[in-house]
Amino acid sequence: MFRSARSKLGNGKAARSPLNLDSEITYLKGAGPAVAQRLRTLDLRCVRDLLFHLPTRYEDRRKHTPCARLRPDTDALVRGRIVAADVRFAGRRTLRVVIDDGTGGLLLRFFHFNPAQRESLAVGRWLQAYGSVRTGTAGPEMVHPQYRVADEAEALQPDPYLAPIYPLTTGITQQRLRGLIALALDLAAADAALATTLPGLDGPATLDALRAIHHPKSDADAEALIERSHPAQTRLIHEELLAHQLGMRLLRGRLKARPAPAIRKPADAVSALLGVLPFAPTGAQRRVLDEVAKDLSASRPMLRLVQGDVGSGKTVIAAAALLAACRDGLQAVLVAPTELLAEQHLRTLSAWFEPLGIAPLFLSNRVKKAERSRVLERLAAPEPAIAVGTHALLQDGVDYARLALTVVDEQHRFGVQQRIALREKGGKLAPHQLIMSATPIPRTLAQTLYADLDVSVIDELPPGRTPVTTVALSAAKRAEIVARIGSACAEGRQAYWVCTLIEESEELDAEAAEATAARLREELPQLQVGLVHGRMKPDQKEVQMRAFKDGTTQLLVATTVIEVGVDVPNASIMVIDNAERLGLSQLHQLRGRVGRGARESQCVLLYQPPLSDMARARLETLRATTDGFAIAQRDLELRGPGELLGRRQTGDIGMKLADPVRDAPLVPPLQPLADRLLAEHPPLARLLIARWVGDPERYAMV
Ligand code: ADP
Ligand code: MG
Repeated sequence: MFRSARSKLGNGKAARSPLNLDSEITYLKGAGPAVAQRLRTLDLRCVRDLLFHLPTRYEDRRKHTPCARLRPDTDALVRGRIVAADVRFAGRRTLRVVIDDGTGGLLLRFFHFNPAQRESLAVGRWLQAYGSVRTGTAGPEMVHPQYRVADEAEALQPDPYLAPIYPLTTGITQQRLRGLIALALDLAAADAALATTLPGLDGPATLDALRAIHHPKSDADAEALIERSHPAQTRLIHEELLAHQLGMRLLRGRLKARPAPAIRKPADAVSALLGVLPFAPTGAQRRVLDEVAKDLSASRPMLRLVQGDVGSGKTVIAAAALLAACRDGLQAVLVAPTELLAEQHLRTLSAWFEPLGIAPLFLSNRVKKAERSRVLERLAAPEPAIAVGTHALLQDGVDYARLALTVVDEQHRFGVQQRIALREKGGKLAPHQLIMSATPIPRTLAQTLYADLDVSVIDELPPGRTPVTTVALSAAKRAEIVARIGSACAEGRQAYWVCTLIEESEELDAEAAEATAARLREELPQLQVGLVHGRMKPDQKEVQMRAFKDGTTQLLVATTVIEVGVDVPNASIMVIDNAERLGLSQLHQLRGRVGRGARESQCVLLYQPPLSDMARARLETLRATTDGFAIAQRDLELRGPGELLGRRQTGDIGMKLADPVRDAPLVPPLQPLADRLLAEHPPLARLLIARWVGDPERYAMV
């Protein structure tokens, strides 16, 4: 059944080992180098990987559904006699086939078909189709179902078992994968580790659970598997979540094992900062400042995520940490995801640090050559420094003599290599890492996704803010809104008008924003209307932002570039055009630009009717609450986990069976178990990581 490793490798050394779960897939029958190459794109390299390549769903073709009982939006297997077949040209060339099974009819529609196909679908023959049922004008339909035809009904039988559906890649069919996985399961029978139960995890042994999931046998199993309530699934979900906890702990252990520069007297730096701030910190800020100060004084690197809603005052935390490093003669950087945000941080920090005699450096790709060399020189010299900028600070060629701390703002916007790059800039010592995120994540979910980081939460807004009232209005009401802005600005208020993305193109976006600004200037000739968009030079943007901050302009038209972090306390009206196009967290971020001063603020969500159910639910949520955590929770429910969490998503974190959102409540009891396994059974811990995670370094990349 298996091609022997020997015949492939000749008399090489590896040849003597019999096939096992660590063997490469090429040694399996039917998997040549070309197949193996393709499977690598699915991260499948060895036999074990195949075993743990799990179906994402099942197709149930175990019985024929009578046409009369077909329900829309369900998948069904149907068998009937072809009673009509013709090609029509209504707008689009369509092959229409009608089958009848005695209880009723079903229309099959094909837009892509060849003459042979057309020929085979002849009236009088039998056809079996599997597909998703829709309601058409004349009854149930399927578009492009999977099908087979035969001259006798008996030749078209249902499947005996539920069909597992695996994630695929080009050139690999379900059939091929099922075959390879069956071979892997045969080999797995000889693997002792898979057959034993795991300490702390209830339910069947891993191998039995895998068999039940790959090869469902009984009808009772089938129902449970479809509902995801089968004990085998529950068992493996627990094992997978445990493996991820282990992986993140292992990574954390590795990072923490490197020595970090212990920063002396960080608490004094906090006091010094508080002495120059124009406000008193909130209780939540104080608590997080303490946590960070404690981390910084340790000779192991800090790995801390600070979560706080927009406007909760995360910049203060960053400033204190930067200051602590600098006062101790070390270097610290603050990296922001956009130019605009980096510039704003520079302004804020320059103002706060000025009385302390510290001028932060600035670096982005737009900094001119001479200035750039000056900054690089300063950073390469063993002198204390605080640098603010974009990811330009992380590029090759930027060397730090004494990097002790990196602060990353709005972490979810960062790309794959950047966190790693940050880590490597510290030379022999690992820099402390502070990561700030405005995407609130429910606590249980944070434990699932960030077990490698310590998490601080700023769960209190600075005082004196009045809540933002939110209304959703149809674009038909635009003229009214424009008039309201006119009178509000006449009373000294300021407003944002946000143009949302129309195309994935900065250029078109910029044009749309320019057109909107031109129109508003015509409609409101008494106002000064500013404009910022992504295509502007930084100094142009700067001029526009400054004019708005000074009150020279009263209305600022902007693309979503203002989304993160921009701070103008006097602005109290936010209009979001085509709000239905944006996701909940993005809308929440935008709305966070207002409600920063003492004045009552309004947010107007202008939408283009008709609204989809999803868009309606989003706008309704936003109207109902301003609590970022509640919005995050709702966002998860509405969208599923994949979209909300930026890079560290289901897909990136690579969960196969578990769902980080749905299954988050299962995680807390697994945490002590993970600690125990790492301490008492390290080989078992490594094995679980190998099964489910692969290389734990992947967490550092998301
Ligand atoms: P975040 O980055 O968390 O969205 P910022 O750090 O930009 O929030 O702070 C938002 C605004 O609130 C800024 O104008 C900041 O100066 C101000 N601020 C921060 N902390 C306080 C506080 N404790 N009291 C009053 N204002 C504060
Ligand atoms: Mg911020």
